[in-house]
Amino acid sequence: THFGYSEVPLSRKQGLVDDVFHKVASRYDLMNDLMSGGLHRAWKSAMVTALGLPRGPRSFRLLDVAGGTGDIAFRALKRGGPGVGVTVFDINGAMLDVGRARARDLKLDDRIEFVQGNAEELPFESGAFDAVTIAFGIRNVPRIPLALKEMRRVLKPGGRALVLEFSKVDVPGLDKVYDAFSFGVIPQIGRLVAGDAEPYQYLVESIRRFPDAETFADMMREAGFDQVSATPYTGGVAALHMGFRI
Ligand code: SAM
Repeated sequence: THFGYSEVPLSRKQGLVDDVFHKVASRYDLMNDLMSGGLHRAWKSAMVTALGLPRGPRSFRLLDVAGGTGDIAFRALKRGGPGVGVTVFDINGAMLDVGRARARDLKLDDRIEFVQGNAEELPFESGAFDAVTIAFGIRNVPRIPLALKEMRRVLKPGGRALVLEFSKVDVPGLDKVYDAFSFGVIPQIGRLVAGDAEPYQYLVESIRRFPDAETFADMMREAGFDQVSATPYTGGVAALHMGFRI
């Protein structure tokens, strides 16, 4: 309700999200560092560690949904063995273009592919991947239960899904600091770096409306995942959710 975005109908939500990432694509990586004070790096590393990637030559297919500029993909390729291959999937062509350029620079283009589409309808066969990740993407998807079901469908039996997302701060005092930062500072950083505060007000709003870790864990169970767990990071500013397809 803070910025009047709460009433956005489902059908318009995706358009709003697409505008945001289209505008910021070229400066997205810098913005991430500024807005999280570099914390997103630690959270993403922890997620990639939780993937349990093979260090040896064994083949391992990772799908990174809402993969944007490829941050998770590059980390996974760096950490895992030579059998690791990643598909970066995102609805936004501008974000994927930045990722493609990064892949060429890093000479990793033979182990990474970029596919454009909607997380609610993954264009992949069932059981195609060893693991599926989504980092700071699921809250942007209009129909989250559909995306979770799709993520489970494309997993091999025994495969895991990891969802990294902003969560609910559960440390007394930190919540106040966090509120001041997110409503006060984040839109201003957006204005300075991307030239526009409004898209970031929408982002802050969407973080605020995202469910707490336990509620989201239940949504994963409802989508059919087993052995679901949630781990808070930095006092609950973010949380990693994990679930398996048995
Ligand atoms: N995972 C990357 C990271 O952690 O740096 C990018 C996260 S960025 C905050 C969110 C991404 O979700 C954007 O690249 C956006 O285009 C993508 N996205 C939004 N809605 C989507 C949808 N319905 N299907 C697939 N990707 C979507």
